[in-house]
Amino acid sequence: MVSSEIKNFGILGFPVGHSLSPQMYKAAFTAAGFPNYNYIPLSIQAGKLYMAVEGLKGLGFRGVNVTIPHKTTISRYLDAIDADALVIGAVNTVVNDGGMLTGYNTDVSGFLAALAEANFLPEDSHAVILGAGGAARAILWGLCKRKAEYITIGARNPQKAQALANDFLNYGAVEGFDWNSDEFKEIIQTADILINTTPLGMFPNVDNMPPIDLKLLPEGALVYDIIYNPAETKLLKTARELGFPTLNGLSMLLLQGKESYRLYTGQIPDLKVMAKALEKNLKSR
Ligand code: NAP
Repeated sequence: MVSSEIKNFGILGFPVGHSLSPQMYKAAFTAAGFPNYNYIPLSIQAGKLYMAVEGLKGLGFRGVNVTIPHKTTISRYLDAIDADALVIGAVNTVVNDGGMLTGYNTDVSGFLAALAEANFLPEDSHAVILGAGGAARAILWGLCKRKAEYITIGARNPQKAQALANDFLNYGAVEGFDWNSDEFKEIIQTADILINTTPLGMFPNVDNMPPIDLKLLPEGALVYDIIYNPAETKLLKTARELGFPTLNGLSMLLLQGKESYRLYTGQIPDLKVMAKALEKNLKSR
């Protein structure tokens, strides 16, 4: 059944022109019979965030996704924060229930669902995360929730890797290292999964990759790059040529979108429609 109801959604960030979310959600709304649900890119500079959030209430937006640079700062303007977003310290989805704004982080469930789809069980595994930024925090929390046995963070800045590890010491066995150190090179030899959360290799800088010798990984380790453009980064290509199983970031993007859609509407979207919209828009870039 097609509904004539009008609701507004959007993505709040700066810049937001590159975002694939408008096409992905709009396709899912239309397929579900909500052709009048709008999804708008909202380009908001940092100093204007408070006014923008108040504006969401005034304009009666049902929800927004949140991206760089607002994922951390938006929390202070919300009425409630869900438990995952609180631990991670970042919000990527806001739902408006009659003027009450609640912040969520769906990157965690997107990441864990993507691992499940790839048949990787984080329980009792040794996971290695490259990078210590926002996405690494969400992934680290997901791995702690699912009881990974040991989590190693490698970054170009060892202080940041150690600070991130320290924030999660109450939740699991987490350590941070300089990714060029001998200790790190030794420790990755027992990794079950290596996850790149840095932008190294992302379009247009497709010839870049993290400075990791993949030959050090044990046979069968899953090499996961959360970048989705290009579909096969230099890291994944190198891993594939060495015989490792690989996974790119498209399923995480799609599955975090599925969870945000569920929070917005109480319904499960048509994932095939969302995936098709993502792939079509990625191809046209
Ligand atoms: P972020 O908070 O800026 O963190 C980026 C991390 O990468 C930091 O640790 C940063 O180190 C490191 N880094 C950046 N440039 C580097 C370089 N040239 N050499 C070495 N390290 C470098 O970004 P984020 O939000 O975590 O996002 C990171 C990536 O994940 C992006 O490519 C984003 O598109 C992708 N992502 C994908 C999904 C998905 O659904 N698939 C979801 C979220 C994010 P410093 O702190 O030293 O700068």
